[in-house]
Amino acid sequence: MSKLERKKIVIAGGGTSGWLAAAALSKQLSSIFDVVLIESDDIGTIGVGEATIPTVRVFHKLLGISEQEFVRETNATFKLGINFENWRVKGESYFHSFGKTGKDSYLAGFQHFWLYGREQGLVDTYGDYCFEFKCALNDKFATSEKANINYAYHLDAGKYAQYLRKLSEKNNAQRIEGKISAVNIDPESGNITSLTLDSGQNVEGDLFIDCTGFKALLIEDALKTGYEDWSHWLPCDRAWAVQTTLADKLPPYTRAIAHESGWQWRIPLQNRAGNGLVFSTKFMDESTAKDKLIQSVDGELTSEPRLIKFLTGRRSKVWNKNCVALGLSSGFIEPLESTSIHLFMTGIIRLLRLLPNSNISEANVEEYNKQTATEIERIRDFIVLHYHVNERDDSDFWRYLSNMEIPESLKHRIELFEQSANVFESEFDVFQIDSWVQVLLGQGVLPKQYHPSVKAMQVPELDKFLNSYKQSVEAAVQKMPKHKDFISHYR
Ligand SMILES: Cc1cc2nc3c(=O)[nH]c(=O)nc-3n(C[C@H](O)[C@H](O)[C@H](O)COP(=O)(O)OP(=O)(O)OC[C@H]3O[C@@H](n4cnc5c(N)ncnc54)[C@H](O)[C@@H]3O)c2cc1C
Repeated sequence: MSKLERKKIVIAGGGTSGWLAAAALSKQLSSIFDVVLIESDDIGTIGVGEATIPTVRVFHKLLGISEQEFVRETNATFKLGINFENWRVKGESYFHSFGKTGKDSYLAGFQHFWLYGREQGLVDTYGDYCFEFKCALNDKFATSEKANINYAYHLDAGKYAQYLRKLSEKNNAQRIEGKISAVNIDPESGNITSLTLDSGQNVEGDLFIDCTGFKALLIEDALKTGYEDWSHWLPCDRAWAVQTTLADKLPPYTRAIAHESGWQWRIPLQNRAGNGLVFSTKFMDESTAKDKLIQSVDGELTSEPRLIKFLTGRRSKVWNKNCVALGLSSGFIEPLESTSIHLFMTGIIRLLRLLPNSNISEANVEEYNKQTATEIERIRDFIVLHYHVNERDDSDFWRYLSNMEIPESLKHRIELFEQSANVFESEFDVFQIDSWVQVLLGQGVLPKQYHPSVKAMQVPELDKFLNSYKQSVEAAVQKMPKHKDFISHYR
């Protein structure tokens, strides 16, 4: 980056990732950098990506977003977790909630007490001890500044990008409409010098952020960075997406319904529902998948089904030369746990922290790439867990998944839980102990033993502890309003 002039960051692409980057960079750095975003109205955005995880709220705080305004502007609803239907076996479901389940001791997490209780015939569902799960089950939700509830949102992706654009332009980010037709590279350094648009305009910059989606125009087309393919672990490679009218109920959670060659999502917004069918073309053809989606949605179709193709994996280096890939251009893990928007956000925060001053330092770039790779690999393992540990024997898809070799890192986590009910948390883990326990149990990994310390509690004492916790959860849920009523009042 040149030393003397005001520096310029050029963002290529105006989908969710591009406008998130523009909003954050313009908010934090507009006194030092010019922030320019190029997007093409003709190409448009992918238009999916409507479920989030709780970290989105932290990022919104960084942007100074008012939650009520955001809920109004994006037709958002609240999300307390995901209901996984037909995953372990057909006809059964389990819930991955964002809340804390039960109470831990210093030595042992709550799962150890629950397993002890289970052995004594004292417990039923693991989620009985989680406020967020019980709220979700009863379609209840409320929040306030001081509320102790962990949640995320469902949002309209198109409206979200427009909302972020407004915030960015308020902070002087400049938008240029046009199609990028060439990425110009300095032959000596290999750095990108400018982007040429169809109109002939040349947009120069110091740092370029590739938010061009799956096209990856800068990081791949121009810089030939490379991509690590994970489709042998996550074979789904297509989704049909369609919008429908809303059913009567407004559940504060996403539904993820497994089928014989993938799964389906149902995302309720204030005014409509988002639906999609994710599948693997190795096991189901496109037209069967489309019919399956149309036949199974609730409500009337309000849009034409759209086919989206993808390849699960990660860009070998998300920061290469003076280009940082954010969004789908940086890699993609299918949307089962709604992690993409989260990854865009952590990518932006990491960039803000490791931003170069006068020159791009190789050590900075290496650190950025290392942290990003670790984070996405941990998420990959968590997603693979949902598929690999299953007892479905009704299709080649599920048989392939349960028999495949899995990453060593995941194998270790499963064995640890199976043998001792232990789960650990490492740096850059997005999903914490509570999440792993719920999914491990939900997919059918039942630990052979639990921590010895919990036996210090006599059975009557354990019964009292479990019951009083469960009752306190139920009493708190009773006081909550319906999700639908809360939204009408809140917006
Ligand atoms: C099936 C599916 C479901 C998903 N569900 C979720 C979910 O529930 N939760 C979640 O967090 N994420 C989800 N995602 C990820 C989701 O796509 C992203 O969240 C996001 O909405 C899109 O990311 P993007 O901004 O990187 O790309 P895009 O939306 O594709 O934006 C690309 C931008 O680049 C521009 N562009 C491209 N080429 C050019 C050019 N030549 N010149 C100028 N501009 C150009 C386009 O016009 C556009 O503005 C899902 C993804 C898929 C595929």
